Amino acid sequence: MRPVYLDNNATTRVDPEVVQAMLPFFTDQFGNPSSTHGFGAAAFAAVKKARLQLQALIGAELDHEIIFTSGGTESDNAAILSGLEVLPGRTEILISAVEHPAVLTLCAHLEKTRAVKVHTIPVDRHGRLDLDAYRAALTPHVAIVSIMWANNETGTIFPVCKLAELAKEVGALFHTDAVQAVGKLPMDLKSTAIDMLSLSGHKLHGPKGIGALYVKRGVHFRSMITGGRQEHDRRAGTENTPGIVGLGIAAELASKFMDDGTTRVKSLRDRLENGILQGVPNTCVNGDPLARLPNTANISFEHIEGDGIPLLLSRVGIACSAGSACTSGSLEPSHVLRAMKTPDEAVRFSFARDNGEADVDRVLEVMPAIVERLRGVRNSWPDKRSAEDIQSGPCSGAGRSGGRS
Ligand code: PLP
Repeated sequence: MRPVYLDNNATTRVDPEVVQAMLPFFTDQFGNPSSTHGFGAAAFAAVKKARLQLQALIGAELDHEIIFTSGGTESDNAAILSGLEVLPGRTEILISAVEHPAVLTLCAHLEKTRAVKVHTIPVDRHGRLDLDAYRAALTPHVAIVSIMWANNETGTIFPVCKLAELAKEVGALFHTDAVQAVGKLPMDLKSTAIDMLSLSGHKLHGPKGIGALYVKRGVHFRSMITGGRQEHDRRAGTENTPGIVGLGIAAELASKFMDDGTTRVKSLRDRLENGILQGVPNTCVNGDPLARLPNTANISFEHIEGDGIPLLLSRVGIACSAGSACTSGSLEPSHVLRAMKTPDEAVRFSFARDNGEADVDRVLEVMPAIVERLRGVRNSWPDKRSAEDIQSGPCSGAGRSGGRS
């Protein structure tokens, strides 16, 4: 049976058009973009073209606002480290509790090794940012705010344009990790107060190991990688020309598929969510019911331990990913689900434009039996959750099944 891939927030299949566009840059057109001869000029022109393609996708004012990096992690690190350097005297960073480890781990390290204070803003049970806490933490001591555009586990979308405007009021820089949002949501950065934005090629059908950092015109930026003068002196090291070309084509394809692709992907995601909510008792959808990525379904299953569902799905050729809120299973607990106080095991299904209805139907076909089997092997219900959790947890009460976004 054909494998079913529903883990596109982890990584996506590289589009065949992307592969084709990259190939010549490994063979005939192998020049270094910094070289002045013909080989170099061809590579230079290819990098320029990719910058324009990316500029169009994110609505940047200038192509030079884009710095190519090795991916989302590097872009996040570069933005935060630069933010701390270019606003001396300001020593505070403001992040959300559900940032990717690319932000969280760096901030924890900075707090330990430098005189830096990190404010971590909580989220509610739907993963929405506590705006009062955000406003309260924004003071003239804050150098940089880093809040993701959309969460990788639940798909919850943060109001980054508004958050950036609030950050401006205290003179702080605003960075957003948009690794999961770019290519899925329309963007027009030139009309926002966002100073810096991270993106990654492999989340939008581009290659791995390539990404970009957008730095708005006029925003001071200091590179953490020093050496040659590539990327207008903002990221040293010979450019990954094949990767950059691939990212450019991926951006162009994402722009092309944005409207129709998003509608189609959302209808697949909704079909899966509705099918599970109706076909499997004691399940619920996690994330903001009103503002969620169109491709992401994060579903909690009561009375299931550990990563049983993804494991059994994997045995029948279905790839998805697990998120656990507890520490009892074999999984690392999800800091996102914990921050949302979600007590149950959750499974993330994430779609892309290469999925179809047959993928959804296959999951719906096998899911009830898998859940029944796992619930059957569990020794005792009432479970590890407290009575309070059971009454107030997102999976409880009216709207548990069928209460979709
Ligand atoms: N930020 C978010 C929200 C992500 O989902 C990821 C990857 O999973 C990253 C950052 C890291 O990106 P990369 O794998 O390109 O380093």
